[in-house]
Amino acid sequence: MTDFDVVIVGGGLTGLAVAAGLGQAGGRVLVVEQERIDRLTEPSFDGRVTAIALGSKRQLARYGAWEGMAGQAEPILEIEVGEKGSPATVHYRHQDVGVEPFGWIVENRAIRQALLARLDELPDVQVLGSTRFVDMERTPERVTVTLGAGRTVTAKLLLVTEGRFSRTRTLLGIEVEEWDYHQRAFVCTLGHEKPHLGRAVERFFPDGPFAMLPMTGDRSSIVWALDERLAEEVGRLDDAMFLAEVAERFGDALGQLELIGPRFAHPLRMVMAERSTDQRVALVGDALRGIHPIAGQGWNLALRDVEAIVELVEGRLHAGLDPGDAALLEAYASRRRFDGISMVAITDGINRLFGNDLFPLKLARETGLAVVERLPPLKRLFMRHAMGTLGMPRE
Ligand SMILES: Cc1cc2nc3c(=O)[nH]c(=O)nc-3n(C[C@H](O)[C@H](O)[C@H](O)COP(=O)(O)OP(=O)(O)OC[C@H]3O[C@@H](n4cnc5c(N)ncnc54)[C@H](O)[C@@H]3O)c2cc1C
Repeated sequence: MTDFDVVIVGGGLTGLAVAAGLGQAGGRVLVVEQERIDRLTEPSFDGRVTAIALGSKRQLARYGAWEGMAGQAEPILEIEVGEKGSPATVHYRHQDVGVEPFGWIVENRAIRQALLARLDELPDVQVLGSTRFVDMERTPERVTVTLGAGRTVTAKLLLVTEGRFSRTRTLLGIEVEEWDYHQRAFVCTLGHEKPHLGRAVERFFPDGPFAMLPMTGDRSSIVWALDERLAEEVGRLDDAMFLAEVAERFGDALGQLELIGPRFAHPLRMVMAERSTDQRVALVGDALRGIHPIAGQGWNLALRDVEAIVELVEGRLHAGLDPGDAALLEAYASRRRFDGISMVAITDGINRLFGNDLFPLKLARETGLAVVERLPPLKRLFMRHAMGTLGMPRE
């Protein structure tokens, strides 16, 4: 097949999810990924986990992809947010907002595995690995995409899901607002002596936030962001010294810690495209905006882009209309504008507020955390926001 409704460039978490949603809706879809497909699920490819909020889980279930990852999803039952040494720590318990957990921690490779398995079941979805997007040509009716090895395909809509350093976005002349946090996030999996009891812990330090996220089995994943200079030094530590630093930040609530698998380091940079669409093209996920991982919201935000595109394209296909015309693109841009900007501002604000030892800021955040802890309605609002169910009808 060379003619599709939608061609998706980038087979990361976002590209695969949008393909599952569109395939489920009956669309003819091609996903193009530069990496070998079997590489995407290797432990050495991506050691990260993702905190999947309740709203995102429901969406993945609708796309038929949740079932494949449910066995590897650890429910988050409690969240503890605070500063080391500060009396103002907020405890969120999922029972305070309902029966469902706040979210689930799933390894990125397990998410990819489940999405790829789902795409395999969808007859009109093709995934091409080891293939690069090279160029495109657009007419008012369609987009013609040139791929590596001279292969050409056509579509009504091109979705760019190439991540925050998207080359196609540059090719389109879409400018970005970006800033470097001058931080690096260390990510690795730890085994521990005592059970985590489903508790996620986020601690703030002047040189960056530290999170311990519960995984299946007696395992947890850390996401530890550090100023670049310090990150350089921590990166040079041997495993035993590294674990000693982790224990220093986290304490001994989980007993003896051991490293399972490699340590990864991700440079942190905020990137936000000045617009989300162009003729017959839409940016989705990190290609549209990549945020600080402090609140574990990047992919949850991307999934809300995915939902908007899937709903709009599905409506068009069912009505026999063009699924990539200007009206669809305008609707997508206006649906996604506010959410994206507000999440960039929230995550950036949290990082600045907590990544600073100035006394007024320290006082402000301690007061803020103490207020949140003592005001149940505000606390519930934050909890529902973290769960990604704000504005959704309760089930
Ligand atoms: C340390 C860390 C922790 C995080 N934790 C969380 C969390 O707990 N919860 C959460 O919601 N989010 C989290 N995030 C954010 C989340 O990981 C991202 O939002 C998500 O991975 C974005 O996926 P994507 O598919 O849009 O982009 P990417 O993951 O960057 O994928 C892009 C894909 O496109 C491919 N590609 C690029 N260019 C081309 C081309 N020209 N041709 C073909 N293929 C191409 C790449 O090979 C890649 O596979 C975290 C991020 C970091 C850095």
